[in-house]
Amino acid sequence: MRIAIAHIGQETGSFTPTRTTLDTFRQFGLYEGAEVLAKMQGVGPIGGFLAAAAEEGVDLTPLPIIQAWGGANGPLTAETLAFLEARLVAGLQQAAPVDGFFFSLHGAAAAENEPDVEGHLLAAARQVLGPGTPIVAPLDHHANVTARMMAHLTGLVAHRTQPHLPFETGKLAAHLLFATVRGAVQPTMAWRKIPIITHQEQFLTSHGPMKAWFDRARALEQQPGVLSVSPFPMQPWLDAPEGGWAVVVVTNANPALAEQLAEQLAQMAWDQRDSFMVYESIPVAEAVRRAVDAPRGLVILSDTGDSVFGGAPGDSTHILRELLAQGVDQPTLLPIVDAEAVAAAVRVGAGSQLPLELGGKLATNFHRPVAVTATVAALGGGRIHAEVVGMESFDMGRAALLQAGLIQIVVSEREGVGGNHPAVYRHFGIEPAHAKIIVLKTASNFQYYADVTAEIIRVNTPGPTMSHLEHFPWRALPRPIWPLDTRADWR
Ligand SMILES: [Zn+2]
Repeated sequence: MRIAIAHIGQETGSFTPTRTTLDTFRQFGLYEGAEVLAKMQGVGPIGGFLAAAAEEGVDLTPLPIIQAWGGANGPLTAETLAFLEARLVAGLQQAAPVDGFFFSLHGAAAAENEPDVEGHLLAAARQVLGPGTPIVAPLDHHANVTARMMAHLTGLVAHRTQPHLPFETGKLAAHLLFATVRGAVQPTMAWRKIPIITHQEQFLTSHGPMKAWFDRARALEQQPGVLSVSPFPMQPWLDAPEGGWAVVVVTNANPALAEQLAEQLAQMAWDQRDSFMVYESIPVAEAVRRAVDAPRGLVILSDTGDSVFGGAPGDSTHILRELLAQGVDQPTLLPIVDAEAVAAAVRVGAGSQLPLELGGKLATNFHRPVAVTATVAALGGGRIHAEVVGMESFDMGRAALLQAGLIQIVVSEREGVGGNHPAVYRHFGIEPAHAKIIVLKTASNFQYYADVTAEIIRVNTPGPTMSHLEHFPWRALPRPIWPLDTRADWR
């Protein structure tokens, strides 16, 4: 079986002022040709694809084209999209003829010149492969599913959980592709767009309304003839013309069943829409007081407005400013992205003290720098090998460990994973379990600290990924959309 393989993924925050370039992609690994298989063995969607092939004993001729993961950040520049498209097209032309194409995508990427990057790339792939070649995609369930994506895909499978399991999703999509190529199934898709956009505070699939919705999808998959059922609660910071939630149902040559189940699942989301809007975050001053008063650590302060896995650049100063204002004297860990501060720390060297105007230089529409005098405790940074959300490594650029009282700040040139993985601190010889408080730049991906977490406090902070969506200057989103507008029905 000759299968072309590619992964081109990025999650765009429309309200993040920075741009995503090839350099951004290189932070998380940009690989081509044979290197793709070497690097992604056992990791991410492509790792899942390879595992599925081995499990099924597929007589596979893998034709790897590109592995490009750009993390979550501002829109792609036009040149970046042009590069990725050119590599994709050339790779497919070189690989031809193929029996199928495993095309891993995020689904919520936008470029300066293209609000639907995935639809654009799928159209380009379809142009090369022609109408008969199966294209199956594993997708992030925070994708913005568009008409163009649906027109060119043969089948799709979205993540089943938040936090995501990209390896598992890759496996599911690969099994669907292999069965399609063998002619064992004939994927038939139906989808519904749902005019809903809600904040991220109810996005975990382990409890609450999201669990109920995803559990229903799993139950529907048990019906005979159903190949996959995917709810898509779109990530809420994408200002795109087709923005909004969706559901996609794939059946084995049963269009009527696909339509019926898609309708059912869309209706369920609409019926429980109020429960998705429950806020858990509290004001920053109250959050810091609660963390200080907590009987034991580790207390996570979730900086909801500055989620680096949601598209924010990781340079928010709101929680740091409050920690300093309250004179917090408990061991506290915090990451911040500030290339200028790193340069200053490198200049003075380890052991020196320096006054800084820290952070607030990237998402300047939300944050301001904060004055802090700190000691440079250590210098470090570079590429860190740790499996985080489907990546095998990440590069945080040069970094410095700053000490201000008992507050330890990892300042880095690039966001990397924003301190959301202990490797960022262990790299400086710090064991996060020994701290009382840690600031995480995520509202959902707490899993890497799960073993040592005593409490998670969501903090209502402004920023490119803030929960209060009504404060963003929406321009492209289709209206009316709930809850920004009132609507009597979803259809
Ligand atoms: Zn996601």
